[in-house]
Amino acid sequence: MTNPNKPTQNEVTASKESAPSANFIRHIVAEDLASNRHAGRIQTRFPPEPNGYLHIGHAKSICLNFGIAAENGGQCNLRFDDTNPAKESQEFVDAIKENINWLGFNWSGEVRYSSSYFEQLYGFAVQLIEKGLAYVCDLSADEAREYRGTLTEPGRNSPHRERSIAENLSLFTRMREGEFVDGLCSLRAKIDMSSPNINMRDPVLYRIRHIRHHQTGDAWCIYPTYDYTHCISDAIEGVTHSLCTLEFEDHRPLYDWILNSLDLESIRQVSDLSSSDSPYVLPQQTEFAKLKINYTVVGKRKLKQLVDEGLVLGWDDPRMSTLAGMRRRGYTAASLRNFCESVGVARSESQVDISMLEHALREDLDNNAPRAMCVLRPLRVTLTNLPEAIELSLQNHPKREEMGRRTVPLTPEIVIDRDDFREEAEPGFKRLVNGGEVRLRGAYVIRCDELVRDADGEIAELRCSVDLATLGKNPEGRKVKGVIHWVSATDGVPATVRLYDRLFTVANPESKDVEDFRTLLNPDSLRVLEGCLVEPAAASADSALSFQFEREGYFTRDTVDSTNGALVFNQTIGLRASH
Ligand code: ATP
Ligand code: MG
Repeated sequence: MTNPNKPTQNEVTASKESAPSANFIRHIVAEDLASNRHAGRIQTRFPPEPNGYLHIGHAKSICLNFGIAAENGGQCNLRFDDTNPAKESQEFVDAIKENINWLGFNWSGEVRYSSSYFEQLYGFAVQLIEKGLAYVCDLSADEAREYRGTLTEPGRNSPHRERSIAENLSLFTRMREGEFVDGLCSLRAKIDMSSPNINMRDPVLYRIRHIRHHQTGDAWCIYPTYDYTHCISDAIEGVTHSLCTLEFEDHRPLYDWILNSLDLESIRQVSDLSSSDSPYVLPQQTEFAKLKINYTVVGKRKLKQLVDEGLVLGWDDPRMSTLAGMRRRGYTAASLRNFCESVGVARSESQVDISMLEHALREDLDNNAPRAMCVLRPLRVTLTNLPEAIELSLQNHPKREEMGRRTVPLTPEIVIDRDDFREEAEPGFKRLVNGGEVRLRGAYVIRCDELVRDADGEIAELRCSVDLATLGKNPEGRKVKGVIHWVSATDGVPATVRLYDRLFTVANPESKDVEDFRTLLNPDSLRVLEGCLVEPAAASADSALSFQFEREGYFTRDTVDSTNGALVFNQTIGLRASH
């Protein structure tokens, strides 16, 4: 019973998103456009490594990169930075693509892979060797570490630093041809072993790994390092603004050194701009602060640990800060985009309060989620003077008539939530008590006349009479304050409902003082309620839809466990901030 007139959640919120606010990156881009630095072009890229699922931190980078391009009529590429095949896989590639589309962005042209530039990267490495700017080094990993020096001590030159160009070319060819075992030697840039910046102390450009790659198969047994690959991939694609997080600030001199060491024309010729008339300009790296949120781990390494050790049910566990998990939990793409915009982009690290994320979510759901009724802890109620079922027509959204109405059956047998009933009146308790009255949401006022107990003395049923004069009207001569939700016991559909709480018990599970973040997991982060009853319209609705279950919070169908027809709802978030 989906309402065809109802706009989808994405459509509705698209128009709600606020105008972009100023930030230092938008400022840089505006200045570059004004000075015509890149011949009027703006091009960005989002460069995930396919070694895990995307998380909420990546959403910030995605919104920034795709946003900057879209705002300036530019293009944003999706490029998998896939230089470390040992940790990468096609599963991650596929999930990342899906997540980006779900978040509402489309990359320009085909998906890119750093690995599709392996041949060009190899050619540029040969060029560096020929210029005397790279050499093959036989130091083992341990030895190389020792030679590298420390923050306070300069490094020492490798004994192989002065090899002839001819010898280096020959050794590098033999590396590629698979003559050497893993780790026997590496190709290093010849920069400066006494540089105060350790990244500039003859960094490794290529290492030997006899390992299959998810894109290139067995074509290669040497793989370029991230630092070497990233800048050249940016340059090949014609990226103008290479936006990355702050930990790469110290790598920027290397980014620039590599590109400036190569012959500019040779880069242009293999770039996407090879046939363009405009002058070719190298990309510029700019760093911004990572998104961090309290009560949350944001970082693939830790998220992977939770998955691999079975501490959650998978990458898309609704408690995870992965985009897959948040989506399954019921986060909307619009709420994440709004959140990222409201967090802004800055140069200094800070931690965002999770209530900001929850606020963005509630705001979107409050506007767009249709209302429905679901009873989580059913208590049976017989309406003694309701002879037969009646069909009520209820508005799907209290403030948005255009979202339509639905039919809700009121039958002689209904259920209400056990928490909405007390045997004795209590101060402040405005719901149903024995002998008292309450309004059924969207229906009549009822009075509890009698309790029926089971063999153990537990309340099994309430027998209530309906004041048939109270549909859409106040009762005569008395006030009934309480309103409770209900579902037909005969037409309602049984459902499993999962209630979630924070995955961590402390605000800073990633703090340096935490020895083992796994000890801080909240044991009550998932509670499963079986035998809940949901109204028929919500049970048969489009499974992608989120609902506000009246008085309970926002819920969405579980995409995984509902596939075989079972009705499973995930709690997205409560109605109000409770922490
Ligand atoms: P992680 O720390 O989770 O492993 P990563 O930076 O290694 O993340 P990548 O796949 O390399 O993951 O990231 C792709 C892009 O997303 C990079 O440009 C990276 O800077 C950015 N990014 C990663 N984490 C965050 C974050 N928390 N906030 C903003 N951007 C991020
Ligand atoms: Mg990374």
